[in-house]
Amino acid sequence: MRIYTSEITPDKDGEIVELAGWVHSVRALGKLVFVILRDREGTIQIVAPKQKVGEELFKKIKSLGQEDVIKVKGKVVANEKAPGGVEILPLEVEILNRAVRPLPLDPAEKVPAELDTRLDNRFLDLRKPKVQAIFKIRSEMLKSVRDTFYKEGFIEVNTPKLVASCTEGGTELFPISYFEKEAFLGQSPQLYKQMLMASGLDRVFEIAPIFRAEEHNTRRHLNEAISIDIEMAFADDKDAMDMLEKVVLNALNDVYENREKELNILGVKLDIPEKIDRITYDEALEIIKNKVPIEWGDDLSREAEKVLGEEMGSYYFITDWPLEIRPFYTMPKDEKIGKAFDLMYKDLELSSGAQRIHLYDLLVESIKKKGLSPEGFTFYLEAFKYGMPPHAGWGLGADRFTMVLTGRENIRECVLFPRDRQRLTP
Ligand code: ATP
Ligand code: MG
Repeated sequence: MRIYTSEITPDKDGEIVELAGWVHSVRALGKLVFVILRDREGTIQIVAPKQKVGEELFKKIKSLGQEDVIKVKGKVVANEKAPGGVEILPLEVEILNRAVRPLPLDPAEKVPAELDTRLDNRFLDLRKPKVQAIFKIRSEMLKSVRDTFYKEGFIEVNTPKLVASCTEGGTELFPISYFEKEAFLGQSPQLYKQMLMASGLDRVFEIAPIFRAEEHNTRRHLNEAISIDIEMAFADDKDAMDMLEKVVLNALNDVYENREKELNILGVKLDIPEKIDRITYDEALEIIKNKVPIEWGDDLSREAEKVLGEEMGSYYFITDWPLEIRPFYTMPKDEKIGKAFDLMYKDLELSSGAQRIHLYDLLVESIKKKGLSPEGFTFYLEAFKYGMPPHAGWGLGADRFTMVLTGRENIRECVLFPRDRQRLTP
């Protein structure tokens, strides 16, 4: 049975094992060939002395080239001089596939590559242990997030991504051709997860793509992103924040505990607070005002976020936002302030959430105040007429959270096949 390279330790000396993977490198020194075999879990050295393996096998091994795919049956040999203190003496080698050379990208990273070249050749880029580490951490985070949701009584749901016109405001939507009708790619499951609060499912979550026609190219925006969304009934903004705090801190602890190797490969020291500080929008303004001009009611500019990020250092919530810069479904706290919050890590927004309006008349009024037409929201508004409980929720960007967990500056590194203004392939 095949095992991974990481399972081969010096105490297995003398055992016969079967490995499969890619040829990381080959080095021939006269009557000796060294092959480094790489699989998902790491690398191991295969040493083939001509006089021990025989003429035929020696020739086969010598013919190997970088990134050929092979299967090896061999004997484990403890050897202090080998990397990891152990190597393999091959008994049988099967060449499963040859790689065309030269390679468009070097997975052994002897030749560094620009991000664009890496993304153009993503399948090869992904062979690098450093790149795989990002996606193993991302997977651990998603597992942890799901675990927390199930523990907290959430039900996983899937809402449509093909939607009719009115989602939240009409901006940033990708129009698509849908038979005779006008349709769009969903920018958020917002309206659907709220409608589910009228269904009695009580607590729902969804992990799915959101599509945003963001025109600008930044290091933290994509046109297709993965959002971790929740909605909970009989809950307010504080309950939603408490849940977000739990989800984030659990994920940090799970990644720390279960992905130590990958964090080390990436050189990341995780910042794991005991709890997450909460400041109000007004308090944030006080901090920002000293460095960048800002008026009450302004959304935070990039510069403002940077000033705040410097000051706050780690994770923090900003609460009590002006209603005029939050979506129509935000529950007012008073005339001007909404029961809304953002979760930030330094200068990066990770999540937005709020208690929502559950009262039909107030919701219609709020839609109108935003200059939108309630007629466009009929299918959504119906759910508020026949028994809608108070509810709250949030959306957490999975790709942005992965940036923080892996210490990456560019969101594209945290997505297998990113979609941005310039990139629609691979
Ligand atoms: P920003 O102000 O940073 O553009 P936003 O306020 O427009 O974000 P929301 O609508 O609040 O984003 O979406 C909730 C979360 O989804 C964000 O906090 C972020 O983590 C993530 N997100 C939103 N848009 C994108 C995007 N274009 N690319 C990657 N992640 C995104
Ligand atoms: Mg937001």
